[in-house]
Amino acid sequence: MNQDLQFDREHIWHPYTSTTNPLPVYEVKSASGAEIELADGTRLVDGMSSWWCAIHGYSNPALNKAAEEQLKKMSHIMFGGFTHKPAIDLARLLLPIVPDNMTKIFYADSGSVAVEVAMKMAVQYWYGMAHGGGGKENGELAKKTNFVTIRKGYHGDTWNAMSVCDPETGMHSLFGDALPKRYFIPQPSCKMPGCTVGENSTRQAGRVNMRGSSAAEEWNPIDIEPLREVLQKHGEDIAALILEPIVQGAGGMWFYHPQYLKEAAKLCKEYNVLLIFDEIATGFGRTGKLFACEWCDVKPDIMCIGKSLTGGYLTLSAVLTTNKVADTISNNEPFAFMHGPTFMGNPLACAIACESVRMLVTGGWQEKVNAIAEQMKVELAPARKFKGVVDVRVLGAIGVIETEVPVDMARMQKRFVEEGIWVRPFGRLAYLEPPFMVVTPEQVSRLTSKLVKIVGEEFA
Ligand SMILES: *Cc1c(COP(=O)(O)O)cnc(C)c1O
Repeated sequence: MNQDLQFDREHIWHPYTSTTNPLPVYEVKSASGAEIELADGTRLVDGMSSWWCAIHGYSNPALNKAAEEQLKKMSHIMFGGFTHKPAIDLARLLLPIVPDNMTKIFYADSGSVAVEVAMKMAVQYWYGMAHGGGGKENGELAKKTNFVTIRKGYHGDTWNAMSVCDPETGMHSLFGDALPKRYFIPQPSCKMPGCTVGENSTRQAGRVNMRGSSAAEEWNPIDIEPLREVLQKHGEDIAALILEPIVQGAGGMWFYHPQYLKEAAKLCKEYNVLLIFDEIATGFGRTGKLFACEWCDVKPDIMCIGKSLTGGYLTLSAVLTTNKVADTISNNEPFAFMHGPTFMGNPLACAIACESVRMLVTGGWQEKVNAIAEQMKVELAPARKFKGVVDVRVLGAIGVIETEVPVDMARMQKRFVEEGIWVRPFGRLAYLEPPFMVVTPEQVSRLTSKLVKIVGEEFA
């Protein structure tokens, strides 16, 4: 181990690992396009987009230029009392591509903070409604401060975001009473139609899947009943339903049926509960739609975006909402929304985001994502025959191999690097989400063939 790695090993904390017995880390020298170069010269094809972010690849000339141009003007300026072109231009680009009821935008600085902001908006909306927002005082509505969500979700690592993450993988037991108690309903069991690779769902039914049974692609109305029950019993305390539409990311890479969201939206209306879509991972084309909510044509009341918003260059997120939510918050006590991050609307991040969004919408993203999906469906299919693999699924530029038991992360990570690809499995999931705007078919083949090979070493 060289001196830098030794120092890192002794002093620097990496995500979700120990300081005394950390998983190994590799030093990156540079990255460009869909390739990462390690300090020792090893070149890896990137299968992760740095956790859903780097859709245009690394060191992208146009994004670099956008950053350089903005740096000449200013890197940052406070957003209290000031505004600037990058923030205005970004809102002009975003509002026409999100659901058309989204008319107000709040810039925040990371995904987790966007989730905090969205949850605060929901609570403050009902506070406003309780204090004259509905046309008359209705103190009962001020009780609507809790949240309902589906299990196996992931919404970030800050306190409230964590409180709506899956209680098991989010390790709620660790934080005990310090964490607010939310209402949890089961993960939707009906699968997104057409995403299953290798075997159709009828044949799959004979095989015991970790989900207990069929994971059929047909909609089953039973799936929505738990939400109805919770709303019937507890709707009066619930401010909002928060979930990741269609794709549950870090909680299990699960693709569920669009009908679930249609039914959920109806129930939210019926029980006076706001609907928050966390599109931080799914936004900007990854699932084959620009935003995952387009799979079901449901419009949320509040929506969070982040991650690939800047093409993975800098941390920036945004919370979008309706006039109704914004007006209710603004026209009633305390006549302002009570949040304001120091780096709110950071001009450098906004300028890069403008270029990233422009390149996305004019760059043939849909053809690119569809082609990658078709290619991954064919090339990941052989893994379906492995005896230790319970499911292979593809949606947009996301390909997942689900194993029966957890993968040996340390072994697999090392093998991936030896074979020249960058993939970071977790739990029972080895998955690909390459930088879809720049990755070539040859690079995708390299990712799929090596992934199948290495998963096969452990699970064939
Ligand atoms: C990553 C993620 C977050 C948290 O974003 P950070 O920028 O890591 O704070 C929230 N929700 C979803 C769905 C995510 O994938």
